Amino acid sequence: MKKRQVVVRKRTQGPARDAIMTTSSSTVRYVECQKNHAAGIGGYAVDGCREFMASGGEGTEGALACAACGCHRNFHRREVETEVVCEYNPPSYDYSGQ
Ligand SMILES: [Zn+2]
Repeated sequence: MKKRQVVVRKRTQGPARDAIMTTSSSTVRYVECQKNHAAGIGGYAVDGCREFMASGGEGTEGALACAACGCHRNFHRREVETEVVCEYNPPSYDYSGQ
């Protein structure tokens, strides 16, 4: 029996796609806890937790549990902040003249 070997060589050519002057990054934050702790009795009460703080490090089970209220991260409102950075030179104003 003979093994056949196929070698495929790919070469990427052309202009780099990331040569753009603007960069944008989005940060996901988990804010107010919205878990209804009184749902069982037909009421509405949240625990007042204002921001999700992981009780464990990334990759552990605690990463999805809030250190403050103990709720799963899904109960916290998700907020996405998108930051766009443009490079430009702002004009300089002179406020010293009176
Ligand atoms: Zn909570």
